[in-house]
Amino acid sequence: MRNSKETLIRPVGAPDSISRPIVTPLSTAVAFASRTPDELDAQYEGREQGFTYAREGHPNASVLAQRIDALEGVTGGIVTSSGMSAVFAALAGTLSAGDHVIGGDQLYGRSLRLMKEDLPRFGIETSLADPTDANAFAKAIRPNTKAVLVEVVSNPTLRVADMDGIAKLCALKGITLMVDNTFTTPRAYKPFENGADVVIHSVTKLLAGHSDVTLGYVAAKDAVMQKKIYDFAVTTGMTASPFDCWLAERGLATFDLRFERAQANAVSLADHLATLEGVKRVIYPLRADHPDHVRADAILGGQGCNMVSFEVEGGRAAANALARGAEGIAFAPTLGDVGTTLSHAASSSHRALTPEAREALGMTEGFFRVSVGLEESAALNAVFTQAVQAATEV
Ligand SMILES: *Cc1c(COP(=O)(O)O)cnc(C)c1O
Repeated sequence: MRNSKETLIRPVGAPDSISRPIVTPLSTAVAFASRTPDELDAQYEGREQGFTYAREGHPNASVLAQRIDALEGVTGGIVTSSGMSAVFAALAGTLSAGDHVIGGDQLYGRSLRLMKEDLPRFGIETSLADPTDANAFAKAIRPNTKAVLVEVVSNPTLRVADMDGIAKLCALKGITLMVDNTFTTPRAYKPFENGADVVIHSVTKLLAGHSDVTLGYVAAKDAVMQKKIYDFAVTTGMTASPFDCWLAERGLATFDLRFERAQANAVSLADHLATLEGVKRVIYPLRADHPDHVRADAILGGQGCNMVSFEVEGGRAAANALARGAEGIAFAPTLGDVGTTLSHAASSSHRALTPEAREALGMTEGFFRVSVGLEESAALNAVFTQAVQAATEV
């Protein structure tokens, strides 16, 4: 009779090795075998550490979550399938029908849609307020207000929220403060050190940094709240792909270096754009002409991050010429990539608005947002000289 190693389909696990890999192995297993029901009890009851079924957690997600936890100064955060699933897990995992949540009025497009269209369908009341003014949030509070969701720097207008004022208000009223820290990253802003209860990331962006994964992260300071968010994410199947987690962990290894370089390039590009003929205005939080630069200095610790927005004269034809003229720069609706990307609110994130409504937000046809990457700074600035020139020649 042949022994079981030859006859059974899955007789062995990993090969024996006294040494360990220096890179986290990619673990695609959906299920994890325990030895006995007692051991499984111990795992489910938290007496032993162990995985059971990948939707509930898997090694690559755990390693990545712990790396981001360390950056945010928290424990127990989870990785989800996208930034949006992290936003939804935070809100839907902790709120119930009849509760009210206030969001920043310039939130990421899909977060805005969630507030306006989806949460109300489930009986969760929502309203929006200007996050640069804590008083606007104070006025929006209702007796049933349970949570506030804000981004520190708005997209694509790069306004800086009154985080201290909003945090004070939330603490005073016992409201859960949820901060989407995607744009700022823990390098520029540490929400938990500044009164946040929940931190959310689109890991897709700067943390992973290479535009090849879609992932989210959410952590709550309070363990009971974290458990609610975790259970909701597991129940609704927000599982992150192990391969995406593995790539993101690899990306995260260079996050600090990428952040430094991208930010230095952004400072330079913002100042360069301001010197170009045909550029009507440049928006960068550290510039003296930015409406919130004093607050940016105070709360972002002198970091302006990697996003720069600017406006050129002219309509759609000028915008087309600019995008075409920016040779080698991807005209694409994302941010935080190693390469610089260019996006245009009127034809992407804010296309659903009427031209008048966009105009009111300052997003004309000539308005562009740049996610600055890691190129050589002088070369990058030269591409924008050429692009702006092309726009002015229309
Ligand atoms: C991109 C983004 C999201 C959504 O993240 P996905 O990973 O694309 O789902 C949420 N918030 C902000 C601020 C973002 O930039």
